[in-house]
Amino acid sequence: LEEQLRKSETLHVLGELAAGVAHEVRNPLTALKGFIQLLEGSVQEDFSMYFNVITTELERIESIINEFLFLSKPQALCFSEEDICSIMNQTLDLLSAQAVLHNIQFIKQFSENPINITCVPNQLKKVFINMLKNAIEVMPDGGFICIHIQRIEDELIKVSIIDQGAGMDNDKMKKLGEPFYTTKERGTGLGLMVTYKIIEEHSGRIEVESEVGKGTAFHVLLPIVQKSNDI
Ligand code: ADP
Ligand code: MG
Repeated sequence: LEEQLRKSETLHVLGELAAGVAHEVRNPLTALKGFIQLLEGSVQEDFSMYFNVITTELERIESIINEFLFLSKPQALCFSEEDICSIMNQTLDLLSAQAVLHNIQFIKQFSENPINITCVPNQLKKVFINMLKNAIEVMPDGGFICIHIQRIEDELIKVSIIDQGAGMDNDKMKKLGEPFYTTKERGTGLGLMVTYKIIEEHSGRIEVESEVGKGTAFHVLLPIVQKSNDI
């Protein structure tokens, strides 16, 4: 619990700081992107390799800024009743090209029957995208990613995303969700932070099981109905 409190305190402070910085950085960034594009079109020699690097790096900055803006904005959370299976299906469709590219197969282990829960659908999509992307990124040689959805108690739904990647030891697991914690050369370390925030706002929780060399299971536990004072 202390760990959780510490995490949400960090989120709060960081959120306030982020608002200012993100806004300041965004405009010059947009200008840079525009002028780089103009330049690319008017330069004679073939500098396409340089332009690719510049563009990729600018996009990386942009995605960090966007995560920050997302964190700092007091989101008007619009809860509605939606089928969690269809939210997951839409997410898997979004990522299907990326999966094929990495030789990864999604194994759906949930029924066609709708399971309606009270949630903010786009936020949950973001959660699943972050987790599925991490799973894809941790399996460079491809493999299977299993997606379970099940009702575990009358009031609770459990969504599990299970990969066959590198796994994590306990020290690494403790750091999950910390701002800027990443083990990737090109990572931002913000994906899970956003994920934890969204699940917290849904009065849910995340459990992680992992074994080094075997893989990782992320379990998202969500209440089916939000108590009115949570909303
Ligand atoms: P990023 O993906 O940019 O590194 P995230 O917040 O999404 O940032 O993840 C933080 C870190 O958590 C990752 O760099 C990785 O070390 C670890 N991680 C997340 N998901 C997994 C997973 N499925 N298997 C192994 N490690 C993971
Ligand atoms: Mg990530």
